Amino acid sequence: MNGNKLLEKMHGLKSVFDEKESELTGLDREIGDGDHGVNMKRGFSAVNEKVSGGTAPEVLKQTGMTLMSSIGGASGPLYGFSFVKMSEIAKEEIDKENLIEMLDVFADTVASKGKVEGGEKTMYDVVSKSSKLLRESGVLKLDDLQALAQETEDMIATKGRAAYFKEQSKGTIDPGAQSAVYIIHALGEDVGK
Ligand code: ADP
Ligand code: MG
Repeated sequence: MNGNKLLEKMHGLKSVFDEKESELTGLDREIGDGDHGVNMKRGFSAVNEKVSGGTAPEVLKQTGMTLMSSIGGASGPLYGFSFVKMSEIAKEEIDKENLIEMLDVFADTVASKGKVEGGEKTMYDVVSKSSKLLRESGVLKLDDLQALAQETEDMIATKGRAAYFKEQSKGTIDPGAQSAVYIIHALGEDVGK
């Protein structure tokens, strides 16, 4: 995947998040403040408008900077900074091995910036397991990523706004885990085929 193809994927996330806005807002209404759908939509609309091309690392960096400045809320800096960090190790032609490294950096960045570990019902639960999925199955299928998000349903949140819901946070997929499914799917859709 070169810069052009990656740009297409990042631009394409605008329509994905337009479509998924109400789903994500619904999840965040259950265990948060109901803005995750709007946040992701705003972020990737800005990416669609402002990120205009370059090499794959440049597209990742511009995407990260744009997400940081356009998404309010906890998810903006986490996704934004992760894209910037991924840009530092991405190759001009991203292959499967490189994407595995990128997903590891994505996970490490969310872990350190969010001070989060596995099982705390956040986006980290999807991000951190995605590189293993790609390494073991060779592809990143939407269903497999969705299964990772599904695992957060039974977890009790201990980070972010959802943590205020304590036991009540059980029974809802974490909104950030759900948005991470779409982001990682876009990154991996054409790699490893
Ligand atoms: P806010 O919580 O500020 O309203 P969003 O609704 O956009 O921001 O994003 C909420 C998502 O952010 C959560 O569902 C969770 O996945 C993620 N999140 C929040 N805090 C953390 C954290 N400390 N570490 C990792 N992810 C987090
Ligand atoms: Mg929210």
